[in-house]
Amino acid sequence: MSNADQESWSRVKEHLRTEVGDDVYSSWFARMDLEAIEEGAVRLSVPTRFLKSWIQSHYAERVLACWQAQEDKVTRVELIVRSAVLKSTILPKAKPDLATENGGRYTNGHGIGRALSVGDPSVHEALGGSPLDPRLTFDTFVVGRSNTLAQAAAKQVAGAKRSDPVMFNPLYIHSGVGLGKTHLLQAVTWAGNAAGERKVLYLTAEKFMYGFVSALRTQTALAFKEALRGIGVLVIDDLQFLQGKSTQAEFCHTLNALIDAGRQVVIASDRPPSDLESLDDRVRSRLAGGLVVEMAALGEELRLEILKARVMAARAHHPAFDVPLPVLGYIAKTVTHNGRDLEGALNRLLAHNKLTGHAVTLEMAEREVRDLIRPQEPKRVKIEDIQRVVARQYNVSRSDLLSSRRTANVVRPRQVAMYLAKTLTLRSLPEIGRRFGGRDHTTVLHAVRKIEGLVGNDMALAEEIEILKRQLQE
Ligand code: ADP
Ligand code: MG
Repeated sequence: MSNADQESWSRVKEHLRTEVGDDVYSSWFARMDLEAIEEGAVRLSVPTRFLKSWIQSHYAERVLACWQAQEDKVTRVELIVRSAVLKSTILPKAKPDLATENGGRYTNGHGIGRALSVGDPSVHEALGGSPLDPRLTFDTFVVGRSNTLAQAAAKQVAGAKRSDPVMFNPLYIHSGVGLGKTHLLQAVTWAGNAAGERKVLYLTAEKFMYGFVSALRTQTALAFKEALRGIGVLVIDDLQFLQGKSTQAEFCHTLNALIDAGRQVVIASDRPPSDLESLDDRVRSRLAGGLVVEMAALGEELRLEILKARVMAARAHHPAFDVPLPVLGYIAKTVTHNGRDLEGALNRLLAHNKLTGHAVTLEMAEREVRDLIRPQEPKRVKIEDIQRVVARQYNVSRSDLLSSRRTANVVRPRQVAMYLAKTLTLRSLPEIGRRFGGRDHTTVLHAVRKIEGLVGNDMALAEEIEILKRQLQE
């Protein structure tokens, strides 16, 4: 390609940018390259099929016009997908060379993992999905009491056929950190795409905000519908990070469009829909209208099973790695936090074992995981529980607490409950107000200050509150 061609290309890009604006330009054209100019035909490449079809259907004429403004000999613009680039960007964690060596199966580069067989991952990439970890599949997800329902629902969604009626929509999974939400959501994506029935798109809320939405925003309503048509299942992880009024409007729009079109939506978040404070009521109720499942903390039994599964997986790569059952039992008992810490604990034993050659013993485990053993995590207290316990203690009903009644026998318990909600949960004042019958945040603030002031002088009240706290945290 000549320098003159390159210079024309630079001018074409500038021209395009001024025509469509910076946002649109960077969404669609930033990764477009000039491949060749031959006999009036310009060949341009983009990294994904999705970009290609989007540019073709929305900007083909514009791009051609920009070229013709520079070079009148140009009569045609051809768009191709750069497949080599595509391969190396699909799955940063997978090794493409292995993919061909073992016939389409690939393993990840981590110590702990196993070969998987999945559908064409480029489908996922072409739609602009977030990267997937090949280890996070249904096969590696251990089922126990705390996650049975979530796992079953996720499996149902992943295996559903296009013609099946949608059973629950959206499927909304919530839990504390490290309890397997991302694992389940990615499992749905892998399994769904491997089945090939419906395209499954996995997006973190962040990716949704900065990729998907900004791309959609530049399009017409019609184009938006067209983009959604390609998606059978939309999976959004960490919804609590969705921020900004206009992003939320887009989210609401997407959610409604998909659900109304009978497409499946799957969501994970660290809190229930009712606690997503920044979302408006309609979205919250739409989110709560499907199936909402909470995953509880991993029980000791489940932790032990996860550890056993991890050791087995590790042994595929490190056959000499052996962890005696009492050591696993010890870790399961003491490292109580979450799946991530369990993994961390095992990785340390593995590293120690590999580097020093010493066998894994209870003594070594005690030393290695000492800092992962933390005092019992404070229990997540729910506002409903606070209302229930306070109502019982003061012998009023929960609806009294939420009502607008101002008689003394309700006012004080209500203030106590609001005070506890503020001190025992991470909820904001407006959220607490809403959960107490739609009160203003200043009312909540007043209640909190009031009780704070009283407990300093009123021993009996201070004692009452201590008892309530203890009941709630047990
Ligand atoms: P979350 O998204 O809820 O914060 P993750 O899905 O990232 O949690 O899980 C944290 C770690 O724990 C991951 O390595 C995950 O594979 C593991 N994990 C959690 N629950 C399970 C489970 N039931 N079976 C196997 N691994 C699990
Ligand atoms: Mg997660």
